[in-house]
Parts: sequence; C-alpha cells; structure tokens
Amino acid sequence: MQTVETINELKQIIALNKDKTIGFVPTMGYLHEGHLALLNKARSENELVVASIFVNPAQFGPNEDLDRYPRDIKRDTQLATNAGVDIIFIPTPEQMYPFDSGISITVGDLSTKLCGESRPGHFDGVLKVITKLFHLVQPTKAYFGQKDAQQLAIIETFVNAYNFPVEIVRVQTVRESDGLAKSSRNVFLNEKERSEAIHLYKALQLATIRWEETKDLTAAITIGKDHIESNTSGKIDYFEALSYPSLQQVTDDTKEVLFATAVFFEKARLIDNILIVKKDV
Ligand code: AMP
Repeated sequence: MQTVETINELKQIIALNKDKTIGFVPTMGYLHEGHLALLNKARSENELVVASIFVNPAQFGPNEDLDRYPRDIKRDTQLATNAGVDIIFIPTPEQMYPFDSGISITVGDLSTKLCGESRPGHFDGVLKVITKLFHLVQPTKAYFGQKDAQQLAIIETFVNAYNFPVEIVRVQTVRESDGLAKSSRNVFLNEKERSEAIHLYKALQLATIRWEETKDLTAAITIGKDHIESNTSGKIDYFEALSYPSLQQVTDDTKEVLFATAVFFEKARLIDNILIVKKDV
C-alpha cells in the first residue's frame, strides 16, 4: 500500500492507473469495522482501491468536535493495508484548501432536515470535499455507509443531478454485537452512556415494527422517542420518519421510508437509522 499526502502525487498515480476500475472510500479515519465493510466491498469490485483519510474542517461547525475528533493514522494505515487498499490519501487541510475560491456549494432543501437542522453548513462542507476528492481520484465506484443516511441521500442526488461519472454504492450499517452502530465517536461515550446507546437502535426497531403493523407514523415516532427518553440520559435532537432519498413527508407512494434519530450525549452526538423498503408500492 502506498501512502500519498499531496494532490500532485495523487494525480500522477491516478494518471498511471487510468485504465483500471477504481473503487474509492472517503473517510475521516479512526477506522472501525464499518469503514472496513466499505473497503472490503471496494476491494471485491475494483482493480484499484483508493481510501482517503481527511478530517474535513469544512463540514464542522464552530462548536463541533473538529479539534478533538479521534485520530490514529498509524493504526488506520495498518488496517487499510490489511484490507487490501492500494492507495491511502492523507492530505492536510492546506493541501485540500490552499486558497479560498469564494465559490461554494449549497445543498438547499435536503440539508434543512434531520442532521442539517442542527448542523447548518455541514452538508455543504461534505459536498465541497467530495467534489474535490471525486475529481482527484476519478473513481468508477464510491462507497458510502447507510449509517450516514442523509449524507448518502445528498451525495446520490448530487451525483445524479450534476452528472458525476461515478456509481455510488450503498453499504449497510455495521453494528456492535449489542446493536450499537459502529462509529468513530463511540469512544466519547462514558460507560453509562455506552450501555444506554444501544437504545437508539432499539427505539428505531420498535418504531418500525409499530409502523409496519399499523401504518400509524405518529404513534411509531412517539414510541421511538419515549423509548429513548425512558432508557437514556441523552437528549433527542430528532426522531423522524421521511421518504428516502428525497427526505419528504411519507405518503402512500413512498417506496423507501427512513426512520432516523440523533441523540446528544455529554461528549458525543450519535446518529442511527433504519431504512424500510415498502413491498407493496
Ligand atoms: P466517517 O469516517 O465517519 O466520515 O465515515 C466514512 C464512511 O464510512 C461513510 O460513508 C460512513 O457512512 C461509513 N460508515 C461509518 N460508520 C459506519 C458503519 N457503522 N457501518 C457502515 N458504514 C459506516
């Protein structure tokens, strides 16, 4: 595996591999089995696998955890090597953003829902870095986790609307054995919060079961919220059900329904979701 830190070097390597299929996995590092699932899928479907590790300042708000976001490049490099990654791109913020172009990407309606409401500008920052990375890596396929469902919906829509020549591949959420979605931010949970955190997924399961049984969305959401409130010390940011990937109100015609939640714990904000594909539409 080759570690690359500059855009120039990356461009040269991509030019040398222009005839190969390229699978790309963008990450912020501190790799866990969730990331590894993306890397493994990329490895099985492409001739060249490129991963990036970049804690992107553009997607963090002023009071968020940019400075204390967990980092361990040495361990990440080892894990990526074991997963068969060919190139790992680890740029500095100065490499990625050497000057302010004064031109920005604004997501619009899709970023006014769910995480976008409490993280203004977050998804604009995600598309800023993804645009640059896609242009640099020129992937055949790029792999994203369903865990970050809104991010995935926005990237799919963006790529489709602006004709990026890349196929976006969805990868199922990887969980701990007790159901907690794997996340780099789980290290910020104290022992009590860690045991409570399983209730995000439990609440989502209860809500989806109720909805499948009764089609009563309000009751389903109430059950989910109540479960989190009764079983955790966290503060609910949102617990909602929306159409996917358009993130609109669920109607009879909705094919995929996203049940999603975000909960603030003392030092971490956790997200999770369940995507239901309706059989009868
Ligand atoms: P991050 O490093 O958190 O920016 O995540 C990089 C990629 O890994 C994103 O596409 C995430 O959706 C994906 N990812 C993170 N956690 C998981 C998980 N538990 N299961 C599957 N994919 C994940």
